[in-house]
Amino acid sequence: MYLIKKIFILISICIFSTITFAKEKVSLIIKNGNILTMNKSKDILENGVIIIKDNKIIDVGNPSILNKYTSEKIIDAKNSIVMPGMINTHNHIPMIAFRGLGEEGIKNRLFAYFFPLEGEKLSRDLIYKATVHGTIDMAMSGVTTYADMYYHMDEMAKATKAVGLRAVLGETIIKYPVVDAKEPYGGFEYALNFIKEYKNDSLIIPAFGPHAPYTVSKDKLLEISKYSKENNIPVLIHVGEFDDEDKRLNLTDKSVIEYLKEINFLNKNVLIAHGIHLNEKDLNIIKENNVGISYNPMANAKGATGIAPAYEMLKKNIKVGLGTDGPMSSNQVDLFRTLSYASTMQRLKYNDRTIMTPETIIEMATIGGAKALNLDDKIGSIEKGKLADIIIVETTSPNMVPNYDPYATLVFQANGSNVDTTIVNGKIIVENKKLITYSMEQNNKDMNEIQKDIKEFAKELAKKAKELN
Ligand SMILES: [Zn+2]
Repeated sequence: MYLIKKIFILISICIFSTITFAKEKVSLIIKNGNILTMNKSKDILENGVIIIKDNKIIDVGNPSILNKYTSEKIIDAKNSIVMPGMINTHNHIPMIAFRGLGEEGIKNRLFAYFFPLEGEKLSRDLIYKATVHGTIDMAMSGVTTYADMYYHMDEMAKATKAVGLRAVLGETIIKYPVVDAKEPYGGFEYALNFIKEYKNDSLIIPAFGPHAPYTVSKDKLLEISKYSKENNIPVLIHVGEFDDEDKRLNLTDKSVIEYLKEINFLNKNVLIAHGIHLNEKDLNIIKENNVGISYNPMANAKGATGIAPAYEMLKKNIKVGLGTDGPMSSNQVDLFRTLSYASTMQRLKYNDRTIMTPETIIEMATIGGAKALNLDDKIGSIEKGKLADIIIVETTSPNMVPNYDPYATLVFQANGSNVDTTIVNGKIIVENKKLITYSMEQNNKDMNEIQKDIKEFAKELAKKAKELN
């Protein structure tokens, strides 16, 4: 009897201790990294640990939290910067199939290249393959979420999911017949179907992409706005890209922003791309209506369209994210070079070398972009409860040494090829600088075929462009 009792007690202790000291099984642990959390207090955790379960970050802290968790997959981020995945808030990614064309200094690039290429070459197949390529380019260089305005959004959604990125995809709505809508404004119907199909997707956030106030009528803008407000759908639109948009709209006594306010179009669901030609009053209206802005400094410099007053926007607490614009405008879809432009263009504009610090720039590229897209409750920082969209940037390549201030290293030294690991929604997309979700061989084959076909067509365009000039 005594022996049985003793064995019973022993077994109880064993069970009790197993329960007490059992580690929680999680999907992924990242340790030893220099973590830029981008949380409210901008905490940096040297030798930090991130715990990921399924698609979420469930814990962040110092190495002591490792006692609580176990995982089959542990990433050692020694000598690396770990940060939230970057958010590219403005793009037209399938145009990556055309990047590098029409760079010979012609004036009418839009008519000489953009329109003929889009009219002749845009097919569902090309949009799918080019989106795969563009999302691979972004994934391998640290972008985990992008916002886009283009055509055949269902193909773009499929391609984006195949690679594994997160995206806000706005179907283009415009007064002209376009590749996926033969009737003017056919994109609205297309968008409604796309929204219904992807409303509850884990990676795709369907949106409206009215091209610009001067290419979409007031009535159509109101129709889009009504549906957006009722169903909480993002609206992506170009505003303030050119200095004559008020003239294009025949506005004589008010700005484009005042016009948009008057028709009650501006609200938190709206993201304005570019926002270059805006005055003080416009910025106040944008702030009052909680509208987001996508600042595209590199594309705007290359296109000589102007420098957006991003510094003023930040001073007014406007939600500002960074964007590259389409690959024909900036040629790069990763944000690294844009990070540097985002700072230096403002310093030139305001003649002040103390503004737009690297920390501010990284903030715009992460949590700022998330705020501009109303996704800051889900992404943009490394915090408990957020979705696991994380990148790991190595600091051992020559261009990354020395690394005294990680923000400065990222903004002024790093490039896309320093990204070692990209994680989206808890899933590893890129590891050891290699894409693991999609066949690179397939992607190279597809892009080679596209390139071969477009190269011939582009020769004709170049000839005509010379005449147009
Ligand atoms: Zn654009």
